[in-house]
Amino acid sequence: MENISIKLPSLKDAKKRTRKPINIYRDLYELSESLKKLGENKKYYLRTYGCQANERDSETIVGILDEMSFTKTDDYNEADLLIFNTCAIRENAVNKVFGEIGQLKRLKVKNPEVVFAVCGCMVQEEITIERIMNTYKQVDIVFGTHNIHRLPQLLENFINTKERTIEVFSIEGDVIENLPVKRFNKYKAWVNIMYGCDKFCTYCIVPYTRGKQRSRLMKDILDEVKELKEQGYKEITLLGQNVNSYGLDLGMEDGFATLLEEVAKINIERIRFATSHPRDFSLRMVDVIKDNKNIMPYLHLPVQSGNNEILRLMGRGYTVERFKMIYDKLKEAIPNIAFSTDMIVGFPNETREQFEDTLKLVDYCKFDFAFIFIYSPRAGTPAAKFIDNIDLKEKSERLQELNERVAKYGNLNNQKYLNKVVKVLVDGKSKRNDEVYSGYSEENKLVNFTGKNIKEGDIVEVLITEIKSWSMNGEKIN
Ligand code: SF4
Repeated sequence: MENISIKLPSLKDAKKRTRKPINIYRDLYELSESLKKLGENKKYYLRTYGCQANERDSETIVGILDEMSFTKTDDYNEADLLIFNTCAIRENAVNKVFGEIGQLKRLKVKNPEVVFAVCGCMVQEEITIERIMNTYKQVDIVFGTHNIHRLPQLLENFINTKERTIEVFSIEGDVIENLPVKRFNKYKAWVNIMYGCDKFCTYCIVPYTRGKQRSRLMKDILDEVKELKEQGYKEITLLGQNVNSYGLDLGMEDGFATLLEEVAKINIERIRFATSHPRDFSLRMVDVIKDNKNIMPYLHLPVQSGNNEILRLMGRGYTVERFKMIYDKLKEAIPNIAFSTDMIVGFPNETREQFEDTLKLVDYCKFDFAFIFIYSPRAGTPAAKFIDNIDLKEKSERLQELNERVAKYGNLNNQKYLNKVVKVLVDGKSKRNDEVYSGYSEENKLVNFTGKNIKEGDIVEVLITEIKSWSMNGEKIN
């Protein structure tokens, strides 16, 4: 057994970007015979916070735990191993995780043998590690976003030594190809196409927690999609922090449009992708989405603000005019395309007039949906040095006003579907009513519907009979 010392993160190191080539490892993850048995008769409980990248990482964690013979439990009271896969994107997400780590202290008191691990973006920050080391003694193992493949060795180390095991690397990162995965859904799959981000938007912690942009080779992505199709998957979502810059680090130009075209040829029924960035969004994408019927007519394109000065302070690298131009081209070429976005209210120095520019942009784009957040500084980012000078009451009022404006258009957009037929990929029965099924339309609208001979994973035609703000009701017609 190796001697694992405590390895702590450093945001200063995490910020560095060098010209070092990216390593692609195909044999970095390995399990000895003893590690394959380490989880025998033991149960794990995993809780995931945050974005799709974390969800996909959790599928890898579960793939590893499966190979180590652990079994899953949904009841943390009966778990031998608890893992929290955390998110650092906003202050309240971080506080929520700490609150829940605190609550689970009693499990450790009841059963000192329980192993408690924390991983994900939050632990890539020094302040989190300090807080865990000083205050949250119930945490036994900490590992970061760059070394999920080391989970077996870290677990073994802790079980054998009972010494707190903290291993977090602040590196640019590699691509590790041979990790196991246990997909959480039988018909919809996440496919990583790249890791990390080099954009360094001034408010964002992700480039520090997830490292430098590293694209997977196109062949590896296509092989994964082919395999998913063979396994019966109906929908894939290509994942990256900034998918439109896919391939830049591999020397490709317009790599994402090319990748999308190649993925579309595999003929999987539905292709989605997240997250897009207006700065790198090439106009060839408009034709690629239009010409390939299995690329869904839905785009999540985060704008963040409708004011150019605020966009400049955010370091976003585009203007409102460019955003509108992309929007116009897409709407013209694909009239039924649905749009969603992310917006931040109360960024430092945002005046009422500048906020109103965001309202005007919403009036222009009539988004189907938006994730709207109150700005909160993330320590270590450039924006954290700006004076957070909008008071919380004002931020909350802006949030509410913007939410109401978006809801108005969400509802109006949904009205267009009344008495129309949409194609829905069935997720299963509704949680609230056993006779109702739910799923998403091609435009990513949540549809609840009734009908006969329906099973999970089917793509069915549904006549829309009732519109709600964020969902639609209907009846299956075939
Ligand atoms: S593009 Fe900007 S907001 Fe998105 S992950 Fe990168 S730095 Fe963060």
